Amino acid sequence: MYMLADIPFDLKSETLMEQLRIAPGTEDAIQFQEMLRKAQEIARPKAAFAECFVDGKGVDTIKIGGFTFTSRMLRKNLESVERVFPFIATCGHEIDEKIPVEDDFLQEYWKDTIKASLLGSASKFLAKHIDQKFRLGKTATMSPGSGDATVWHIEQQRELFALLGNVKQAIGVRLTDSCLMIPNKTVSGIRFATEKDFRTCQVCHRKDCPSRTAPFDKQLWAALEHE
Ligand code: SF4
Repeated sequence: MYMLADIPFDLKSETLMEQLRIAPGTEDAIQFQEMLRKAQEIARPKAAFAECFVDGKGVDTIKIGGFTFTSRMLRKNLESVERVFPFIATCGHEIDEKIPVEDDFLQEYWKDTIKASLLGSASKFLAKHIDQKFRLGKTATMSPGSGDATVWHIEQQRELFALLGNVKQAIGVRLTDSCLMIPNKTVSGIRFATEKDFRTCQVCHRKDCPSRTAPFDKQLWAALEHE
């Protein structure tokens, strides 16, 4: 497992305040600036990844590094792929540990927004690092539990974490019994080289999702159902 612990980030006060609709000069602005100052000081966004090879392919399964992943979409995406990069990127555990906000929903929301920004920095840095280090060219990712539940079951986080090794020790991310990741602003998945423009949103029925990056693809969905 490779680990990236020194990830640069820039918490842009103006952008975040605009996003949170905090008016400059108010009491909220003063409190938020203080939270941001602390976060800038203590935050350590991190990432971990591995270079792995596909050991075998079934009808809708793919075996990587001895672990079997069941997802027809993943299997389809890895049809002609032999090397993959399981990864985890996180905002880091420092913010939750050192900026407590007990029973204050507003401050919890501010904190989550700061953590999301840190996760964004970690994700971008990791993607660029993998693509450059291994000269991947065009890439795509898939994550257990992302998109429609049936596309790739969230329970397969267990195999993904096991494939990477001791993630908790390396970057402080742990998996709950219900397969949620702690800290909450953490993403995991498998990155791979591809010529196709795949995004999980293409096989996600969720309506009015503010984070959608591609429209639902009826043809791709139908192909998955009838394969
Ligand atoms: S549409 Fe939204 S929920 Fe569905 S995969 Fe895309 S970002 Fe995730």
